[in-house]
Amino acid sequence: MKTLQLNKGRESSLLRRHPWIFSGAIDRVTGNPSSGETIRVQDASGKSLGVAGYSPTSQIRARMWTFTNDEVVDESFFLRRLRASVARRETMLNDPQRTGCRLVYGESDDLPGLIVDRYGDYLVCQFLFAGVEKWKSVIVEHLRALVPCKGIYERSEAAVRAREGLEPAQGVLWGEEPPELVEINEQGRRYALSIAHGHKTGFYLDQYDNRELVRQLSTGRSVLNCFAYTGGFGIAALQGGATHVLNIDSSAPSLELAAENFRRNGFDAQRYTNTNANVFEILREFKQGQRSFDLIVLDPPKFAETKAQFKRAARAYKDIALQAAALMNPGGLLVTFSCSGAIDLPLFQKITADAVLDAGRQGQIQHYMHQSADHPVGLPFPESLYLKGLVCRLD
Ligand code: SAH
Repeated sequence: MKTLQLNKGRESSLLRRHPWIFSGAIDRVTGNPSSGETIRVQDASGKSLGVAGYSPTSQIRARMWTFTNDEVVDESFFLRRLRASVARRETMLNDPQRTGCRLVYGESDDLPGLIVDRYGDYLVCQFLFAGVEKWKSVIVEHLRALVPCKGIYERSEAAVRAREGLEPAQGVLWGEEPPELVEINEQGRRYALSIAHGHKTGFYLDQYDNRELVRQLSTGRSVLNCFAYTGGFGIAALQGGATHVLNIDSSAPSLELAAENFRRNGFDAQRYTNTNANVFEILREFKQGQRSFDLIVLDPPKFAETKAQFKRAARAYKDIALQAAALMNPGGLLVTFSCSGAIDLPLFQKITADAVLDAGRQGQIQHYMHQSADHPVGLPFPESLYLKGLVCRLD
């Protein structure tokens, strides 16, 4: 097997089972491995640390498949890993009220760069690392065998693929092409989503636990759902007995699907409104118009893609939280999220605290939120924690 030797002292993260090897940690690579090829990883003294997949163009030059020196990376290796990943979610997968669920979450499930989501009868995959790309057909075969489904579809994210030296990829990998809209059931909520055109693989499965929380918190409250996308939180709020939900999003197609989703759930049309607007602007207009709400959800897109953008992002998070706090009725709940990996929870909490203070309000944190249990955080891989949220009660 071809080998990758680390610089002296650079094995420490691997000894803690962190799976990434950055280009700067490498002394030399022998045998000129191809994209995705399996290689042995050694420390500076030549001692084997395990086996990795190689990615010649990426800054993350290799990702560990196994830290067990005699474990062979072959077809059965992927079957074992996929089976374990699915088994961890057995309870969720057997819940007939939860037909949307992530099955594989990359490094956290010991399958670097592989995402698999289930939406009813369809699986959607992302192959985001040269190593999993190489084993794609094996992975698809195993998934078919492990999870009964009608079709397996690929939605690999273009930007990440480019860093891996891979072409963008989308389309049917096996079986039937999914219909334009696939419906999932989430604790009685019906969500239609587009596997081919939706965000991520179609839907924000990572907010499942938090939608459940919003459902519980919404009883009797008027709700402003900012960055509504296809109505995820809004429908949970109405299910939980919100008096009215106002959904705001700047994307007309997303709001059209939101409207379809509200119809599918059979809610009285008087209980919800969809408004196509920029959140930053409309919150200010609401202030002038003296509008107020009992629960406000802020679930914006990633404002910071990188560490470099984090100041601008922090200002944006603060701005919307400040504007929202100013619209809150006494006793109202601010439900605010950040999915930027570059903004960690202590910083996000500080931004929120500053915003509430500047709005002239006082508040308390009632709940800390994270991504849902089907998007677990690998203990050796803290990078996989990206979604943070707070429920703050404002006096
Ligand atoms: N809360 C959603 C996911 C939000 S994704 C859910 O749980 O399903 C972020 C959404 O913000 C996208 O739908 C995008 O169209 C919208 N968006 C981005 N910038 C915006 C802005 N400035 N004003 C309003 N909506 C915006």
